[in-house]
Amino acid sequence: MTQFDPEKIRRDFPILHQRVHDQPLVYLDSAATTQKPQMVIDAVDRYYCLDNSNVHRAAHALADRATTAFEHARRRVATFINSPKSEQVIWTRGTTESINLVASAYGRIALQAGDKILVSTLEHHSNIVPWQMIAAERGAHVVAIPIDTRGDLDLDAYQALLDERVKIVAVNHVSNALGTVNPVKLMAQYAHSAGAKIVVDGAQAIAHFSVDVQDLGCDFYAFSGHKAFGPTGIGVLWGREALLEQMPPYQGGGEMIETVSFAGTTFNHLPYKFEAGTPDIAGAIGMAAALDYLENIDRAALQAHENNLLKTAILLGEEHGLQRVCAPQQAVGVYSFLMPGAHPADVGTLLDQQGVAVRTGHHCAQPLMAHLGIPGTVRASLSIYNNLDDLHRLFAAIAKVKTFLLQ
Ligand code: PLP
Repeated sequence: MTQFDPEKIRRDFPILHQRVHDQPLVYLDSAATTQKPQMVIDAVDRYYCLDNSNVHRAAHALADRATTAFEHARRRVATFINSPKSEQVIWTRGTTESINLVASAYGRIALQAGDKILVSTLEHHSNIVPWQMIAAERGAHVVAIPIDTRGDLDLDAYQALLDERVKIVAVNHVSNALGTVNPVKLMAQYAHSAGAKIVVDGAQAIAHFSVDVQDLGCDFYAFSGHKAFGPTGIGVLWGREALLEQMPPYQGGGEMIETVSFAGTTFNHLPYKFEAGTPDIAGAIGMAAALDYLENIDRAALQAHENNLLKTAILLGEEHGLQRVCAPQQAVGVYSFLMPGAHPADVGTLLDQQGVAVRTGHHCAQPLMAHLGIPGTVRASLSIYNNLDDLHRLFAAIAKVKTFLLQ
């Protein structure tokens, strides 16, 4: 493990060293997607330059190399999240597809008319809409777990909602809109005592702190490669083996079968049962390289660095008269704010003109925005390559935006 050195980390990310609108880029949109270190770019490049081939059923050297690297990547993910077996790691296109897989395949066997799915008010649309779709199909209901004024889940209300009709709880580990870290381990215990299963959307957690699926005690855990320094188009669904075994396949096609005839088809074993078609081989290899990169960093020091940046952003925001949207007890990576008197979209555009990339709008969390009674926020999201300079640039740019919009 190398010592945490933010300046060295910055050098690992080639994209950061460019000018945007004639200003050095300040990238504060990592909650949307993280940038990629050279090591990940090289891994994908090397694969396409040297090893590209379709995986499995290898009859030649390239196919063998591609298969070895692809299956090594699966084992890499398994170790990273402490999965008991690598067969429990299913490749998907990303968090969204992982959640759709569980909703469709597990929802179909678990839900009866009148059952309930609890989904938190903090969720991204990708952890709401798939549940609404399967609920409509099965005659079940999606019920929201409320939040308090700080932006934390109301755990008393959650416990009160957990009756015998609740079959599934779906919650994010970290909110992409507010940065709230949810107590998913405790929530899993509550869900299990009520006989429900818990699906955790880890899209925003995986890059910020270590995730141990066994320690969390969750039933499913979903995340995307691109939110953790890997490529887009690749993601993971982790599930408990017994549940994955019970679930029917999600999609039909090549790879997910054992035998096919017009009389009927038998399905492949885990994990292939859920991996119809040619997978994103380069994506999986790139994702494994990203996890290697992350694991080579002192994660406790990294977390302390990110926490320090967030605290500084909050303080500077107060000094600049910004209104932080909620103040969760525990938050990572996200400083969501409003500039009183200015529309978030205008703030975002004027920041971009100064080379500062933030995201504005509802952040795919419209029910949360409706609950807060706001159209959206300005979100500055922080990652391993951000530093205090980035924050000073952000707030210098904010001061100019204020002068422009409010005077
Ligand atoms: N869940 C959360 C909390 C997210 O922040 C995102 C993306 O922003 C997603 C799910 C969807 O991830 P993807 O688009 O990679 O499938």
